[in-house]
Amino acid sequence: MPPLSKARGAVRRFIEASRPVHRDTAVALRRRWEELPDNARSPQQLLGRRTAGCEGTHGVFPRCNLACTPCYHAKEAQSVRTDGPHTIAEVERQMAYLRTTRGTGQHAQLIGGEVTLLGPEDHARALQVMERHGRKPMSMTHGDFDYDYLRDLAITPDGRRRFRRLRVAGHFDSLMLGRRGVPRPRSEAELDEHRRRFVAMFERLRAQHGVGFDLAHNMTVTPGNLGEVASVVRSCAGMRFGMMSFQPAAYVGNPRRWKEDFRAVTIDDVWAEIERGVGTRLPWAHLQMGDARCNRSAYGILAGGRWTPFLDERDARDLRVRDRFLDAFGGMDFERAPAPLVAAVARVVARRPSVVPAAVGWAARFVRRTGVRRLSTGRARALTFVVHAFMDAEVVKPAWEALQRGETAGDPRVRAAQERLQACSYAMAHPDEDRLVPACVQHSVLDPQENLVLRRALPLRP
Ligand code: SF4
Repeated sequence: MPPLSKARGAVRRFIEASRPVHRDTAVALRRRWEELPDNARSPQQLLGRRTAGCEGTHGVFPRCNLACTPCYHAKEAQSVRTDGPHTIAEVERQMAYLRTTRGTGQHAQLIGGEVTLLGPEDHARALQVMERHGRKPMSMTHGDFDYDYLRDLAITPDGRRRFRRLRVAGHFDSLMLGRRGVPRPRSEAELDEHRRRFVAMFERLRAQHGVGFDLAHNMTVTPGNLGEVASVVRSCAGMRFGMMSFQPAAYVGNPRRWKEDFRAVTIDDVWAEIERGVGTRLPWAHLQMGDARCNRSAYGILAGGRWTPFLDERDARDLRVRDRFLDAFGGMDFERAPAPLVAAVARVVARRPSVVPAAVGWAARFVRRTGVRRLSTGRARALTFVVHAFMDAEVVKPAWEALQRGETAGDPRVRAAQERLQACSYAMAHPDEDRLVPACVQHSVLDPQENLVLRRALPLRP
């Protein structure tokens, strides 16, 4: 190619890479905003403005090798063989569809049964497929694997790094049975050693091979371990988790794994326990992902043992900063190479110069709230708290069926479920049917049938 054409091509690529929001993402965000029910289109809403929502895989490796009580998976999941080529092909299909319908730069969970039942090569290939389709993949695991597995996932046999950074969520709670070393935990505290070991493997990987990590901690909450949420928060705050996510148990999945009255735990109960653990209030209502009955998140920084929110929702100036940020940057993906990132920010600032004084004012207030000393010497790091409350299958099924018929349910419980499904922030792709479905629908309605088909296609013994 002549040098001039080459240079022109490079400039064109740079301009495209420094576009604040990718064209396809902008279209997907507009569509998501328009689809939201009226009550969800609020100033605090992030769906359709900052993100199209989270995504997850389904039917890619349904089997697990631990036994949880409760378990969201249909009982047929345990009879499906974990099979690398099937996983890669399914992930490819689902991610290609998500790329077409939701743009790029969205967070997607590699989720099913247990991801580490895949060999490290197949696991790595699945993550690479997700990245190739513009997703930010996060592997969801019970965390009961060894360092060699992690190294082989991140590093090729000839010693090359496959990933600059791994995003992994480890699920640890005392409702899980069969973990090596603690097959029947009697308390959450007994798992702390395993949580630490999990984080330590990633720290070792970073030290030895330079692979970074984003770690999340997941925990299912029932009346049995609700009182231990605060102590889990205190223990994990000292480990390098960037997110702590809690899920009050819902009646979904294998009925033989339900042992308690899970309805006794509400999203408010769990939030109060997290606040007790972190020792401060966790403001959430000013930044909302989807419906407040489904999700609650508090974004902040942990420095010198104290957690401080990025935005103080009681300060009108911080709320104005939120509005300006969302208007100016919208769905901009900040994870990109330095040169296109600087150029993308410059393009936003050139269009909306008022973001500069707003950002400076916010930064000054944030530093004052957190404390200069804490920020500089307190090993500051971002830490997000999340509660995601899935719905019971008994309301999801009628709600979804009514939505499919274009009807609004008369029963207030079912109607509430319909509103939540319409504002869902966690979708799964069904390319054959040209549609996305909420994860609640996937687990409550579609998984049992899907697993029956997979059981025939992938029997445990081929
Ligand atoms: S998956 Fe269910 S609980 Fe989660 S956001 Fe969607 S509708 Fe709400």
